[in-house]
Amino acid sequence: MTNRRTTALVLLLGLALAVIACGNAGAGSPGVGSPPANPDALRVVTTTTIFADLVRQVGGSRVTVDSLVPKGGEVHTFDPRPSDVRRVTEAAVVFRNGLGLDDWLGSLVADAGTKAPVIELGEGLDGVTYLQGEHGGGVNPHLWMNAAYASLYAGRIAEALTTADPAGASAYAAGLAAYRARLAELDTYAKTQIGSIPEDRRTVVSFHDAFPYFAAAYGLRIDGTIVDAPGQDPSAGAIASLVEAVRANHVSAIFAEAQFSDELARTIAAETGAAVVSNLYTDSVGDAPQDTYEGLMRWNVDRVVAALKGG
Ligand SMILES: [Zn+2]
Repeated sequence: MTNRRTTALVLLLGLALAVIACGNAGAGSPGVGSPPANPDALRVVTTTTIFADLVRQVGGSRVTVDSLVPKGGEVHTFDPRPSDVRRVTEAAVVFRNGLGLDDWLGSLVADAGTKAPVIELGEGLDGVTYLQGEHGGGVNPHLWMNAAYASLYAGRIAEALTTADPAGASAYAAGLAAYRARLAELDTYAKTQIGSIPEDRRTVVSFHDAFPYFAAAYGLRIDGTIVDAPGQDPSAGAIASLVEAVRANHVSAIFAEAQFSDELARTIAAETGAAVVSNLYTDSVGDAPQDTYEGLMRWNVDRVVAALKGG
């Protein structure tokens, strides 16, 4: 890289980081929770909107679900509010991911003094090949980005709902079976669609480390991430190294995500000629049609296929 280009890159990075700082400050929107339509419904609290959707799919009208992290909010850096203690206090069952994704729930549960079961959806699942995080710190928590693993989450959810509400056992079993059939279709769709991308175009860089299970299941290669963790902006030097790696490894696309600014992805893409796949959904649902797990996964697959086949 010439000095002039290095200077230009550093200037661009400065701008991009400023935009990211502004973008993060405004993140968050009203919660996904809605008043219970059925007054006898089982009250469930989850850490993220994605788990809330899984609970809704399995539990149907027997449950009312409230996500602590609002739609578009960031689970990794979430800072619970005092009102969240009350939400946990009122819950009959609490679902979290575990694996370091939502550790902040621990103090919330302690403050709430709740006796409700706290179910860890991602911990110790049979049939999962756990992957290490790219930047150390143990196992990567984003298991749900593989639809077959989301189906295991749904199984654990049905089990916990049945324990809390035995009268609903057959409803939860039926909800689980119907949902698992749809997740199996989703899994096949993702495999088929991403399988249609030429092999030499399947290497990508992602914004944060959310895609290793998605990549392993559907046949992509992740060759780096822009940030070590959400909330930790990279240094100009780290970005310059990533730019070199993107060039050296012929990375086809940079994945950017709906809840983060895509400025850094665009900066790297402009330097390297890689495509940007923006508005992918990883840790939160969005607006329709990405307002469900199924919807956001299909959206992600379609965006990735369009970008990687496009060039
Ligand atoms: Zn994440």
